[in-house]
Amino acid sequence: MEDSFGEWFSRVIREAEIMDPRYPVKGLCVWLPYGMKLRNLVISIIRRLLEERGHHEVLFPLLIPEDAFNREAEHIRGFENEVYWVTRGGGEELDVKLVLRPTSETSMYPMFALWVRSHADLPIKVFQVVSVFRHETKMTKPMIRVREVTTFKEAHTAHSTREEAEAQVREAVEIYRKFFDELGIPYVITKRPEWDTFAGAEYSIAFDTLLPDGKTLQIGTVHNLGQNFSKVFGIEFQKPDGGHDHVYQTCYGISERVIAAAIVVHGDELGPCLPPKVAPIQVVIVPIVFKDEREPTELSHALLQELERGGIRAHLDLRNLRPGNKFYYWERRGVPIRIEVGPKEARWRKVTAVRRDTRKRIEIPIEELLDKIKTLLVEMEVEMKKRAWDKLNERVRKVGKLDDFEKITGGIAKMSLCGGGCAREAEERTGFKILGEELDSKPSGRCAVCGRAAERTVLMARSY
Ligand SMILES: [Zn+2]
Repeated sequence: MEDSFGEWFSRVIREAEIMDPRYPVKGLCVWLPYGMKLRNLVISIIRRLLEERGHHEVLFPLLIPEDAFNREAEHIRGFENEVYWVTRGGGEELDVKLVLRPTSETSMYPMFALWVRSHADLPIKVFQVVSVFRHETKMTKPMIRVREVTTFKEAHTAHSTREEAEAQVREAVEIYRKFFDELGIPYVITKRPEWDTFAGAEYSIAFDTLLPDGKTLQIGTVHNLGQNFSKVFGIEFQKPDGGHDHVYQTCYGISERVIAAAIVVHGDELGPCLPPKVAPIQVVIVPIVFKDEREPTELSHALLQELERGGIRAHLDLRNLRPGNKFYYWERRGVPIRIEVGPKEARWRKVTAVRRDTRKRIEIPIEELLDKIKTLLVEMEVEMKKRAWDKLNERVRKVGKLDDFEKITGGIAKMSLCGGGCAREAEERTGFKILGEELDSKPSGRCAVCGRAAERTVLMARSY
């Protein structure tokens, strides 16, 4: 898995029937029923977290007129080389060319300008889950680098003061922390360097996780847009004192990369072990039937009913296959718990549960089934999260001097830098990229490059 992560991932999403990448347009994939259920469960978590913090869901059109798209100069520079254009409608050339949204600032903000009149109209806190399109020229990889990002959750907010927007950035970071924590995905949070800031933003904060091959994957970003867009789009409001100002904005997004991360960070050589919270099937029941005994199957039906009544997503596998084949089948789909029900179990009124992550076998008396399964799912969640965090932490290494760097092959390097131009030198000499300044870190010690007093702590890695 460490050596050939790419192959592992492609194989796993097909074998687990999550996605089919064989769609005849490069960089576009099909979500299969099992993958779609997983995707919807992941979305339901972020939707809940956003709604709890006062965000409202909206749906803006896919097409953006050229003049709106071209209004913010920095923003166009960031996206112009990767947008898809719609230039014809039927047989006619369009008067105004249309962009397939690569992100929705230029779709939403002209409407914000119509909605906002006074301070009483603020704040605006909206989000949507949509497809965005980017003409990727690099090699595409399902969920990780695609031309249609199908699960783009983008939130956009507008505020009457800079301080409120600043507080919103913090809230967004907290929401994303909780989101990744619920999925057991470990992360580092950095303030991106200026050259890697979102096009049109004052600054960007990003979440990155670490994949088994030692490269980082950006899984979430939060941007403080200041008044850059509101000035361009004329989003103005009357203040309580009668004066006027432009709104202060933030936006933040995640994509199906989160789903990729959930598959990868908990996976093993067999395939995924899905976090219990989002596993489409949390428990699969496999009756083991010899000759034509009826007890195991009958008992399995009863257990299924009980688990479903208790709110567990359970499935009973009655296919005419050998048990061993069924075990393998569900392991490759990452189902957290398998319950085996044989004739002995039926007689002794207990079943055997097998955890997907540790393969540990646990005997459970039938009367205690629901409680025990619920406890087991929670235990798995906690332990999976801890193991994933341990793996990440093991691969974050402190580098005191750049000369020590050869010892690191992959993972994340953490080093102190001065305020001068040593960042570029560090990138050139190591081949690693600066992810950014570690959020809320206190600089200490000496610059790893020049030895002067350190002014920041940065994280560096090779990235997707
Ligand atoms: Zn320096």
